[in-house]
Amino acid sequence: MNTTTGTRIYRGTARNIALLAGKLRTGELVAVPTETVYGLAANALDARACRRIFTAKGRPANDPLIIHIHHLAQLDQLAVMNPAARRLAEVFWPGPLTLVLPKRPAVPDLVTSGLPSVAVRMPRHPLLRRLLHACDLPLAAPSANPFGYVSPTTAEHVRAGLNGKIRHILDGGPARIGLESTIVDVRDPRRIRVLRPGAISMAQLRNCLGQPVVQYRPQPKAQNLAQVAPGMLTRHYSPNARILLRPRITARDLLQCDARTACVFFQKPAKATGQHVYWLDAEGDQTRAARRLFALLRKLDTSGYRTILAETAPPGPMAEAINDRLRRAAAKN
Ligand code: AMP
Ligand code: MG
Repeated sequence: MNTTTGTRIYRGTARNIALLAGKLRTGELVAVPTETVYGLAANALDARACRRIFTAKGRPANDPLIIHIHHLAQLDQLAVMNPAARRLAEVFWPGPLTLVLPKRPAVPDLVTSGLPSVAVRMPRHPLLRRLLHACDLPLAAPSANPFGYVSPTTAEHVRAGLNGKIRHILDGGPARIGLESTIVDVRDPRRIRVLRPGAISMAQLRNCLGQPVVQYRPQPKAQNLAQVAPGMLTRHYSPNARILLRPRITARDLLQCDARTACVFFQKPAKATGQHVYWLDAEGDQTRAARRLFALLRKLDTSGYRTILAETAPPGPMAEAINDRLRRAAAKN
């Protein structure tokens, strides 16, 4: 089963956790479950191991990796802390919040794409926490998918994208949140900026810190966008089908629904149902809609739709994050 090119999915038994921790210690890659999306992990302190992540994903070298830790004591080796960062870590870790901080020399330049900053997060998923504990290493892990495609929220999604390119996938069930972490740049405590929206909202960050937090908006023409905030690459998280966004899908939009065009409502519509009509959540629950989004985009891709007409999320707790991903999935190259 575990042949040279084959990709194996492991259940989270004590024996498998110990085995995979050993693989990580010797520089191999392991795809891991997190509460946000599945990640492709390597020892963050080993540049050679991390280079394999870029190769397996086809990820450009100027898109830096997030480092995952299980203990606050690991932070001092990686990053320079400040009071605002400490407060956010206390309140939101373990959880879907990534902090961008000044980097320490122990972090290989490859991991940060040569930036003087490093992105760090303490994940909450229990299996990943056991693995982090067992290998006792900080793990660099971007989403476990070919670069630019929709992020994986199940072990099967990881296998579908990286089969033959990686050997080990730890199965922790479907991701509970389903969208990547909120990334917040806290290097300058007087100017705290959200680089990527996620399940932790701007309002939560403001309430926690008692100060303004702004959404970072890159200049549309900035040459080195990837160097400022790499996740800001305009087109990302994209299925093969073309996505067209609508604040509301109208009766007229519905006329276009056919074997080539899927209509995706946010909430189950009162009347319009039938073939080629989908919704993110029957009741329009935002948490469940976020959890389902990436799996649905994948399903529509494999069903052969060429176009997806999708409704954006109405105001609500996950709207920032859902609409950010929808807009980027819809962006043209
Ligand atoms: P992902 O591929 O979803 O795991 O995301 C990794 C993302 O983390 C990158 O694309 C960046 O947006 C962000 N990131 C990682 N390191 C840094 C950094 N040093 N400064 C700013 N953003 C970073
Ligand atoms: Mg990614």
